[in-house]
Amino acid sequence: MQKRLTAEEYINGIIAGNRIILSRAITLIESQLENDRAIAQKVLEGILPHTGGAVRIGITGVPGVGKSTFIEAFGKHITSLDKKIAVLAIDPTSQRTKGSIMGDKTRMEELAHDSLAYIRPSPSGSTLGGVANKTRETMLLCEAAGFEVIIIETVGVGQSETVVKGMVDFFLLLMLSGAGDELQGIKRGIMEMADAIAITKADGDNNQKAKNARMEYVHALHLFPPTPNNWYPPVLTCSALEKSGLTEIWQVISDFKVQMLQNGFWKKNRQEQSLNWMHDYIKQYLENQFFNDNVVKNNLESVSSQVLSEAILPIQGANILLDSYFKSLHH
Ligand code: GDP
Repeated sequence: MQKRLTAEEYINGIIAGNRIILSRAITLIESQLENDRAIAQKVLEGILPHTGGAVRIGITGVPGVGKSTFIEAFGKHITSLDKKIAVLAIDPTSQRTKGSIMGDKTRMEELAHDSLAYIRPSPSGSTLGGVANKTRETMLLCEAAGFEVIIIETVGVGQSETVVKGMVDFFLLLMLSGAGDELQGIKRGIMEMADAIAITKADGDNNQKAKNARMEYVHALHLFPPTPNNWYPPVLTCSALEKSGLTEIWQVISDFKVQMLQNGFWKKNRQEQSLNWMHDYIKQYLENQFFNDNVVKNNLESVSSQVLSEAILPIQGANILLDSYFKSLHH
């Protein structure tokens, strides 16, 4: 049993860049225990003045597009520039598989051993919103610990892209050549969220195909309406295998930052994200309170079966449960 740390010890350890304490603080944040929540809150408040300094990058793409291979190569490129990088993940599938996309130790092995890099597996949780809140908090801890680049990886299969887009400065979409968008399951909406698209595996026989795909996406993006931040998402090609295209992608991100700082959108985006985060937190909190309430727990099954048997409408069921919840609050 490890000795419990005080909030102060967590805060000082994190700010000093102590990784063991950072990891423990993240575990604390992920904890569902009421006691832990209170210290976690204090730790977050304590480190807050030391946060916000990193470039926050979201990376998505379908399974097999080469995300982990790319992040490892890109991460090594960033550490070669003497910058500290943290890699986090939001994995909507981890609940089902009881594993996580970042779970197996073989992923990003080289980066994991880099003293300037920190890789943290995806937190588990019952809702995407809950997992997202923990990832946001983890991101702040990493920033306070001195990480200058934060990468948040997600599998391009659902709502998680929107969630990641809502917590990063720059959103990178990885795409395969030679497979249509439909084949890749990439929705138009996800392409619209991208600040850049990179065609992966542009090496060997695949090189020409990647170049062709690049032109197709350049044309496709032209059809999208211009964004308010005046940024035209570039399409690039890269190979994690040959380590090509990585410098260019980092340059695009750096240019984006300069431009957004100048036109005010860097700050504006973060301000909007802060408000959304507050709203998400409230929703998450109320939802937890509601479903953990004993009266609700006791009634949930019988009300559900009435809805299933069509004895009552879903909305009636919801109102019965809500009424019982608010009544139980007043007792
Ligand atoms: P993820 O599921 O998106 O994380 O994809 P992975 O990083 O696991 O890569 C999927 C497969 O693509 C693996 O077999 C990789 O070896 C291969 N791959 C990844 N990057 C490259 C690349 O730059 N070039 C080539 N030729 N293959 C790659």
